[in-house]
Amino acid sequence: MAKKPKWFQKGQEGKKRAAQTDAASQKRREQAGKPFRFFQGKNESCKITFLDTPDFYFSEHHLKLNNQWGNFFTCLNDFDTCPICESGENPSYILVGTIISHKEWTDKDGNKRKNQKMLFVAKAKARENLQRQIERRKSLVGCVYEIARGGASNECATGEDFEYLKKLSKAQLQKLIPPGQDAKEFLKPYDYAKLFEPQSAEALRKLVGIDAPIGADDEAETEEEEQETPEVEEEEEEETWEDKLADMNRNQLKKVIRDEELEVKVFKGQDDDTVRANILEALVEKYGEEEEEEETEEAETEEEETVEEEAETGEIDSIDDLL
Ligand SMILES: [Zn+2]
Repeated sequence: MAKKPKWFQKGQEGKKRAAQTDAASQKRREQAGKPFRFFQGKNESCKITFLDTPDFYFSEHHLKLNNQWGNFFTCLNDFDTCPICESGENPSYILVGTIISHKEWTDKDGNKRKNQKMLFVAKAKARENLQRQIERRKSLVGCVYEIARGGASNECATGEDFEYLKKLSKAQLQKLIPPGQDAKEFLKPYDYAKLFEPQSAEALRKLVGIDAPIGADDEAETEEEEQETPEVEEEEEEETWEDKLADMNRNQLKKVIRDEELEVKVFKGQDDDTVRANILEALVEKYGEEEEEEETEEAETEEEETVEEEAETGEIDSIDDLL
């Protein structure tokens, strides 16, 4: 049975997709100059040192746009109707802090990397465990942890197993500053209110393809809008050509033939079902059978952007020298 080919969009669907593509590349441009989020692969562990005691909580959406994860949006729900929530996406309640990651790795230019200042974004179990560490130790400034990520796919990308190793003195922290970096700046926690400042409801509406309700401002969402939102769902069953054609009259069918430039002849005595069948056949010939859309929910590919950062070398050889 012929299904609707998936490689193009028209009308509202096309507009929605275009808005998402623009938003995704905009987001990438914005994130290019922003601090990196710490993450590690499944079944990996490494040492990190906290530069502050995490105390900044908020809700955040993580969206797959244009087939790519790594698009983060602050949820508006605390003060406004959040278009992303309306679209059926659930935010995560996160706790953020600033760390030095001691993970050693080699960048694409062959430079050895370590002691990188990064954002630490803890959600779910990772957040709970981090909160427990804070309750226990009051201040996490200078605290070194071995943090491990397990193999479960729903585990926070940071890992959620915290093993306390040591609290570094100020003098010891200084030894972790990579050469060429401003010491004061390096040891200063990030400005979270600035980094995660929410976008406007309008911008987020565009992103999820919801039109602003007519005659309504951001606060007043209409019933219709709420009903429209499920369309944004990624796994939405899309209307097949077969369904579409079934609802069309003779003139509309002819229009499809013209618009799609199909080589289908329509004769006077033909019944509409024959015309529909011929159109479907021509569409399949033109576009091929629809391929099954694959859902790749690999959490590991989430935040690959870390590889882009510039080379830097810590003054000490390894965090282990301080432990
Ligand atoms: Zn939201």
